[in-house]
Amino acid sequence: MKRHVKPLGEGAFDLLILGGGITGAGVALDAVLRGMKVALIDKGDFASGTSSVSSKLVHGGLRYLEHAAFHLVYEALHERRLLLRNAPHLVYPLKFAIPFYEGSRVPPWKWRAGLTLYDFLAGRSNLRRNRVLSERDAARAFPWLKTVGLHGGAVYFDAQMDDARLCLDVLQTAARCGACVINYAEALAFEQQNGRIAGVRVLDHLSGEEFSVRARQVLNATGPWVDTVCRLAGDDSGPHLRPTKGVHLVVPDRGLTAAFLLLHPADGRVFFVIPWMGKTLIGTTDTLYDDRPETLAVTAEDTEYLLAGHNHHLQPALAAKDILGSFAGLRPLIRTERNEPSSLSREFRVFWSPSGLLSVAGGKYTTYRRMAETVTDMIARRLGRRRPGQTKGKRLDGAPEACWEEFLRNETASLCAKHRLEGRVVVHLLQRYGRRAADVAAYLKGNRALARPIIPGEPDILAEFVYHREEEMAVFPADYLLRRTRLGLFHPEMLQKPFATWEGS
Ligand SMILES: Cc1cc2nc3c(=O)[nH]c(=O)nc-3n(C[C@H](O)[C@H](O)[C@H](O)COP(=O)(O)OP(=O)(O)OC[C@H]3O[C@@H](n4cnc5c(N)ncnc54)[C@H](O)[C@@H]3O)c2cc1C
Repeated sequence: MKRHVKPLGEGAFDLLILGGGITGAGVALDAVLRGMKVALIDKGDFASGTSSVSSKLVHGGLRYLEHAAFHLVYEALHERRLLLRNAPHLVYPLKFAIPFYEGSRVPPWKWRAGLTLYDFLAGRSNLRRNRVLSERDAARAFPWLKTVGLHGGAVYFDAQMDDARLCLDVLQTAARCGACVINYAEALAFEQQNGRIAGVRVLDHLSGEEFSVRARQVLNATGPWVDTVCRLAGDDSGPHLRPTKGVHLVVPDRGLTAAFLLLHPADGRVFFVIPWMGKTLIGTTDTLYDDRPETLAVTAEDTEYLLAGHNHHLQPALAAKDILGSFAGLRPLIRTERNEPSSLSREFRVFWSPSGLLSVAGGKYTTYRRMAETVTDMIARRLGRRRPGQTKGKRLDGAPEACWEEFLRNETASLCAKHRLEGRVVVHLLQRYGRRAADVAAYLKGNRALARPIIPGEPDILAEFVYHREEEMAVFPADYLLRRTRLGLFHPEMLQKPFATWEGS
C-alpha cells in the first residue's frame, strides 16, 4: 500500500470516502469488491480516531442484553464468527470470567440467564458454552479475585483483536483490490453542481497542496467528526451524535488466564480487566463528552475511577505508579432520548443530507462488515450497481488460506530456520502480519541489524519499521508506535524521543 496522491486528482471516482477508521475502511473494501472506483482519505493517520483506542473486543456484548438489544447482540455474535475466519491472525478467542458477589447490582440468576441467552443467540457461531462455577472453583481458578462476598462465578468465551492492525489490514486489502487510500489528506470543503455534491476540496497535509477530488457519491465516515463534516456540507440538521468518552489504563502483565467482566463499585457499570499483548488493559469509562474530539485527554478522575474498580475486585492492588500508559477514545454514538451514557444505543444510523452527502454514524467495531454492507447497498442502489456484497467470505490479505493453527505451526518453523529468528519473535510477526510476516522478515536479508528488538524485552523488531514505511504509509512517530506497532501504549516515553534514538531504547 503506497501513498500515491496524484490519482486522487485525476478522473472521477464512483465513491469518495471521508475517514479511514474501521467504518470507512469496511465500506472501501465492500465497494471496491463490487467493482466501484473507490477513493478514501483520512485527515490524519488511518485508525488514528476511535479505531485504535477501543477495548479490542470482538464480542456480542453481554451487557447489551440488559438493554434488551437482542438484535445487536445476535448480529455481533455472527460477525464475530466471520472475523475469526476472515482475519484469524488478528482476531482470536478469549476466555472471560464473571465473579458473582453478594448484594451485587446483577444477581447470579440474572448472569446465568444472560449467559444462557448469549449462548442461544450465538447458535452455531458459539465458541464454547458458558460454565457456572461454585465459590470454591471460582476462587481456585482465579486467584486474583478477592473472596470476601464471592458467591461463585461463570466463564464464557468471546474474542479479542488488535484494533488498529485490523483497520490497516482491511485498508490494505481494499488497496490491493484497487481502492486509492491516502492518509494525511483532509476534506476541507464540498464542491457542488446544481445543488448536489460533485466533489471535495482536499488538503494534502504532507505536501501542503490543495486539490479537488471528483466523485459521484461522497460518504462521511468520520466517526466523532460526523456532525462537523455534515455542517461543512451545509447540513445543520444535527447534531446526530452523542459522543461518550472511554478511557483505558495499561498495566504490566498480571498473568491473568482470562479477562474479567466486573461491576464498578461506584456506579454498578460493567468494566473489564483484559490480558492483551503481554500487558493488561483496564477499562473502560463511559462519560458524556461534548467538547471537540481534538481536546480529549485522560484525567486524574478517569484514572482513579479505573484503579478503584480494579482494586475493589482484584488483588494485589494497583497504584498510579504501576500504570504504563493510558488512552482515551470517543464513541461516536447516535443521539437518542436516553441520556445515560452506558444505555446509549450501539446501533448505527445512515442518513442523507439535502446535498446528497451520505453519512454513517454509530455502531461497533465488531459489526463493521455488516454496517459497511448496508451502507454500500445504499450507494450501489443510488449508482445503479447491482452486484451484491462480497465481504462475508472475503479473507483479509494477511489471512492464510490454510487453517490458522496449521499455518502458524508451519510458518513458524520455516521463518525461524530461514531468518535465524527466535520462535517468539516469529509468532509475534505471524500474529500481527499473517501471511505478510514473510515480507517483513525479507528485509533481514540485506541487513541483519534489522532483527534487533525495538525495545529490549518486547518482540517487535526493527524490520517492522521499514515495512511500515515502505508498505503501510507510516509517516510520523505515532504512526509507527501507536498503530502499526502498539509499543507507544506501553512505553509512552518513546513518543517523545526523536526517530534516530528509537533503536534499542
Ligand atoms: C473506549 C472505547 C471502547 C470500545 N470498545 C469496543 C470494543 O471492544 N468492541 C467493539 O466492537 N467496539 C468498540 N468500540 C467502538 C468502536 O471502536 C467504534 O465504533 C469504531 O472504532 C468507530 O470507527 P469509525 O471509523 O466510525 O470512527 P474513527 O475510527 O474515529 O474514524 C474516523 C476517521 O475520520 C477521520 N476524519 C475526521 N474528519 C475528517 C475530514 N474532514 N477529512 C478526512 N478524514 C477525516 C479521522 O481522522 C478518523 O481517523 C469502542 C469505542 C470506544 C471509544
